[in-house]
Amino acid sequence: MIPKTYGSLINGEWLKGGAESKNINPSDITDDLGSMMSASSSQVVDAISAARAAQPAWEAVKLEEKKNLLHAIGQELIDRCDEIGTILSREEGKPFAEGRGETFRAGEFYQYYAAECLRQIGESAASVRPGVNIDISREAVGVVGLITPWNFPIAIAAWKMGPALAYGNTVVLKPSEVTPATAHLLAEVLNKHLPDGVFNMVQGGGEVGAALSSGKIDAVSFTGSVSTGRKIASAAISNMARVQCEMGSKNPIVIMDDADMDVAVASALHGAFGASGQKCTASSRLIVHKDVHDEFVSKFVEGAEAKKVGHALAEGTELGPVVSESQMNKILGYMETAKEEGGELVTGGKRLERETEGFYLAPTIYTGTKNDMTVNREEVFGPMTCVMKVDSYEEGLALANDTDFGLSASIITQSLKHAEHYKRNAKFGCVLVNLPTAGLDYHVPFGGRNASSYGPREQGEHAKDFYTIMKTAYTNPG
Ligand code: NAD
Repeated sequence: MIPKTYGSLINGEWLKGGAESKNINPSDITDDLGSMMSASSSQVVDAISAARAAQPAWEAVKLEEKKNLLHAIGQELIDRCDEIGTILSREEGKPFAEGRGETFRAGEFYQYYAAECLRQIGESAASVRPGVNIDISREAVGVVGLITPWNFPIAIAAWKMGPALAYGNTVVLKPSEVTPATAHLLAEVLNKHLPDGVFNMVQGGGEVGAALSSGKIDAVSFTGSVSTGRKIASAAISNMARVQCEMGSKNPIVIMDDADMDVAVASALHGAFGASGQKCTASSRLIVHKDVHDEFVSKFVEGAEAKKVGHALAEGTELGPVVSESQMNKILGYMETAKEEGGELVTGGKRLERETEGFYLAPTIYTGTKNDMTVNREEVFGPMTCVMKVDSYEEGLALANDTDFGLSASIITQSLKHAEHYKRNAKFGCVLVNLPTAGLDYHVPFGGRNASSYGPREQGEHAKDFYTIMKTAYTNPG
């Protein structure tokens, strides 16, 4: 259950905040999800101080105890995934199966990092000086600020919080102001299992995030837009705090003339319209070989038109609404731009009406687009994708790489030669063959290149590169 108003959690205590903002259900704007109270700047300072005070004791907690605590957090999220997934879907708009699935996955992240507590991560080496021993160990960084977006409000928090806590750091989370109720429930679970001050949460928008990222923290991990990432990185660097930013992208799928057409269509539908296209890994550029272009477009349009767009909690909904009115208007603006710049609208391109008033958009496809068009350069973050026709694999690869971003790229082909070449030459952090551009498993590194990512990778055991500091110690036993 969520209360009528929800504020911040500092040192184990729930606190009221200042300005209140109404939490809107994008599937039904009459649904009451209560109000979020924004943290004051002094509350942000208090949250950092609480995390600072709790850190040494948390780092000293015995490995097995820490493992059991993280495991219990994961288990509670898994056990409550129907309840929390329902709130997530109500406030964010993703279909219930996705809201529930995301909550379940968040639980799995905590359980993965519970097990990571027991991994042996030190090294030892011999010195060039005979008889001297060297130990290389990893210690917690200290107090970590986590700033997260609304599109995966519980999973992204989990893939940051899991390693932050497992490696002995304490945390101040600033969740998105668009999904405060999910954050409230998550904080309740963490607060129940962790000692006071180990996990703190400050609710609010950009101002609260700015106060956190410029505060006395040791590291900040951010996921969100490039423009916010730039501000957070400069704030952190001016304090000599570590910084990690995961941002947007323009992810391509190259569809070759030898593609299995069913795989191509299924990958494009999933990649472009999953989560209503509101994914950093969304397939927003479809680069199609001329010999299969028309067949692909006709089957892809058929698939898009068959998608059931509706209330996030309604049975059978495949695409929910987009998250907010402002996001919807921004996407409609990009649809206009696509037309103005010469794209041909083959389906969608409009707002839809449903039984309840919400921010519903039809799955939208443009063909005949060029890679220098605005809609192929900028992140749209909605259920809209653009098709480009190419003459060859080489042209497809060149277009795929011609972007300011570099998160996820895929190719649909039955040619081993093209698949292998693409894996090695696509300038992206994640490359997939015969699969849509998408997020990855929790045990492998996730991140991009260029404007998509800044700093070390997230997820898997590689997360330790951000959440730990190395110490090199010498001993002369005499
Ligand atoms: P956003 O940048 O608007 O906000 C993200 C977070 O930053 C929110 O919590 C927000 O309150 C906070 N914030 C805003 N201004 C701030 C400031 N000046 N200082 C500190 N914090 C500030 O992004 P969004 O609209 O919530 O999320 C969508 C974006 O997230 C898209 O660009 C998407 O591609 C990206 N994203 C990336 C990944 C990835 O792993 N690469 C995953 C999911 C989403």
